[in-house]
Amino acid sequence: MMGPAHSLSGAAAWLGVGAAAAAFDHPMPWPVLLVGALLCAGAALAPDLDHKSATISRAFGPVSRGLCEIVDKLSYAVYKATRSPRDPRRSGGHRTLTHTWVWAVLIGGGCSVAAVTGGRWAVLAILFVHLVLAVEGLLWRAARMSSDILVWLLGATSAWILAGVLDQPGNGSDWLFTGAGQEYLWLGLPIVLGALVHDVGDALTVSGCPILWPIPIGRKRWYPIGPPKGMRFRAGSWVELKVLMPAFMVLGGIGGASALGFL
Ligand SMILES: [Zn+2]
Repeated sequence: MMGPAHSLSGAAAWLGVGAAAAAFDHPMPWPVLLVGALLCAGAALAPDLDHKSATISRAFGPVSRGLCEIVDKLSYAVYKATRSPRDPRRSGGHRTLTHTWVWAVLIGGGCSVAAVTGGRWAVLAILFVHLVLAVEGLLWRAARMSSDILVWLLGATSAWILAGVLDQPGNGSDWLFTGAGQEYLWLGLPIVLGALVHDVGDALTVSGCPILWPIPIGRKRWYPIGPPKGMRFRAGSWVELKVLMPAFMVLGGIGGASALGFL
């Protein structure tokens, strides 16, 4: 899928988690629902950091371009080192390491640890990166036409404001994890979810996605998971634009409304 569909599906997924959390007696205060949806929308672009022309690789100028090259090389090296004789030979790292559940858990877990141990600046940094991505993903064309610096400013100011809102008592910095010192431990959850939702979205496309690596399937370690061939679509096709994206919006709306107790 393309950036906007990935981001929309990420936001909708977190709103769905909000509805489930309310049903299981852990209702999210509205700032958790909002910030989580934005984090998840941003995180749903992150796995494509292995691809030069992806939104995330262009989002932070030379920093993300450099990181993209490193991630591509690392992914390719891991692919070569762990592929079984049945996995095809390939020439780059796109849709390998960063498109697995292992990567999703590592990135989300890393963000949670950073948020808990690194204090306010770590929380701000995590929010900034994901908010910039969410703006790029959700406001696609508008973000592309404005300058990078404007988007970064928007990300930085919203990160500052939202962190201030979350810090207020009862607004949810301690949502789900209520022990002393566990504030913001939940920040990793929308990030894991965003990456997984991205992988599932890619799995629906023609080439599939090796989400389960390194668990072997049919003696392939990098088995590209996906539905039967006839149910797959091309990235950016009408199915994605005219069916999936409106569906994500409707589902997200229903999820959000029931998370806040309106349904
Ligand atoms: Zn992808």
